[in-house]
Amino acid sequence: MNKFAVIGLGRFGTRIALSLAEKGAEVLAIDSSPEKVETIKDDVAYAVCLDSTDLKALQAHDIEKMDAVIVAIGENFEALLLTAAQLKELKIKRLITRSSSQTQTMILKQMGITEMLSPEAEVGLSLAQRLLNPDMLTFFDLPDGYQIVEILAPHGIINKSLTDIGLRERYHLNLITIKREFEEIEKGEVLTRVHTIGVPKANTTIFEGDLLIIMGKQSDIQQFIEINR
Ligand code: ATP
Repeated sequence: MNKFAVIGLGRFGTRIALSLAEKGAEVLAIDSSPEKVETIKDDVAYAVCLDSTDLKALQAHDIEKMDAVIVAIGENFEALLLTAAQLKELKIKRLITRSSSQTQTMILKQMGITEMLSPEAEVGLSLAQRLLNPDMLTFFDLPDGYQIVEILAPHGIINKSLTDIGLRERYHLNLITIKREFEEIEKGEVLTRVHTIGVPKANTTIFEGDLLIIMGKQSDIQQFIEINR
């Protein structure tokens, strides 16, 4: 089983700890505030109150046996730095720290930390994307300007087959799959359920209301939406 420690149970750290625990990981949640530890203790494997800048306290909880340690302390950058330094000293397998600014990122990089999370930057980026692209429901950034996005099928392609649309040839996009609503009768009641239609074929037709999961260059996705809006 995967074992993770999450240090600093603010909103961000708590979300990470709970998500990991929900997905079945063994989570050790750490905070110097007894109230924070008390709040999370029933939802994770272990919750302990300790000062994470204290090397001995970390060792006492076998922190070096974790698959990864996430330091999610936000406001107190000094505590984050000292904690990261102790964890480096203990040679833990994988260290992921929070960073709230470019200066912090620079300092952490100089300490040899390569994995950083920035809730502020990520929330900002995702809001900007949502405001600029209201048609884009979710997206996943890939290197080199590629994305996987979920979009509502634009008007211009409704009732057309993939061959007619020319998604690959004209737009250089790959349709991964379609999420489509179906009406189903269950115990005499009509229910609307969303299904994944599997791997699309050349003759697969797009219907109104379809949600398309598409992979391609961000600029090509934009162009496809604009042309068919
Ligand atoms: P968020 O932005 O995630 O909501 P926050 O602003 O509520 O965070 P932060 O100041 O970022 O809170 O701190 C996160 C948690 O880290 C707090 O619960 C705090 O008690 C804990 N923390 C700070 N310093 C230490 C330390 N030395 N050892 C253990 N926990 C610490």
